[in-house]
Amino acid sequence: MDRLIGPEYSKEDNSVEHSLRPKRLSDYIGQEDTVEKLNIFIEAAKNRHEPLDHVLLSGPPGLGKTTLSNIIANEMDVHIKVTSGPAIEKAGDLASILTNLEENDILFIDEIHRIHRVVEETLYPAMEDFALDIIVGKGPSARSIRLDLPKFTLIGATTRAGQLTSPLRDRFGVVLTLQLYDSESLKNIVLRSAKLLNTAIEDGGALEIAKRSRGTPRIANRLLKRVRDYAEVMESGVITEDVAKRGLKMLGIDGYGLDDIDRKIIMAMIQNFGGRPVGIDAIAASINEERITLEDVYEPYLLQIGFINRTSRGRIATKLAYDHFGMAYEEQERFL
Ligand code: ADP
Repeated sequence: MDRLIGPEYSKEDNSVEHSLRPKRLSDYIGQEDTVEKLNIFIEAAKNRHEPLDHVLLSGPPGLGKTTLSNIIANEMDVHIKVTSGPAIEKAGDLASILTNLEENDILFIDEIHRIHRVVEETLYPAMEDFALDIIVGKGPSARSIRLDLPKFTLIGATTRAGQLTSPLRDRFGVVLTLQLYDSESLKNIVLRSAKLLNTAIEDGGALEIAKRSRGTPRIANRLLKRVRDYAEVMESGVITEDVAKRGLKMLGIDGYGLDDIDRKIIMAMIQNFGGRPVGIDAIAASINEERITLEDVYEPYLLQIGFINRTSRGRIATKLAYDHFGMAYEEQERFL
């Protein structure tokens, strides 16, 4: 079963996710910095009748990268073609995508850090000069011919900006990093989604869902749907603060939206490593999880709520985490 509070996309999100996606920049809640910059860049590009510079969007899954790319296409009034890094297997696949673009179109490549090396090299001249270099012939008679491409905007989305090679990263004119959302923004996202789903909800109910959504709109929408089920079947249908609390308790979501893996991470840090600073690989090995999953999915939220700190010597669990899991803290101060 998919984790209810996992930020990764699951099939069940599909039907509703589309209808809940904001279509305009003005409907996009939170991420004020990013929205402000995009507003300016989009207006400037439109005034010049040019495509937007290539955009790199980075941030943990479920924060709105795909949503933003579609919004950019709407605001620029152009088409968007969607693909993903691992889906483009050969340089020829990319060539056929690129030659089918129309002037000013957007090409959205999700998980761009997973793009194959040969494909990546085809992207360089495409991004820089809107050109495609093709080799014709074989052996000594092989030669390279250059095809012109329509001017387009590449939007790359990644959960791991650090894994992009620098030649690729350098070719993006606009680099935007999405942050985990605060509770207030998530509350507004829940209120907006509830309205679209025709669900009665009070501010307190929305805030309760927001606080347990790990800073992630995708999780907020998913919890809203499950709490709505609970409210309709077990209560009067209106999601009040109390109804939300009871619904979330039934779903097994604690006050911080933590689950079993978060608990394992913190307990490993406290018990297996005695509260000393510890490296991410050691934590991953001790709880049998992938390092990447810990870094992309768990750690950002545990850092945001102040349960772990990163020091030059490694990660440490904070007093807040000790208190939350009922562990004694005093002795740990010597490690700080
Ligand atoms: P990502 O591409 O980063 O994994 P998505 O763009 O698919 O994330 O967003 C997941 C869901 O969260 C979407 O269905 C969308 O409805 C919702 N969402 C994301 N960001 C926002 C936002 N700023 N305001 C409202 N809803 C949002």
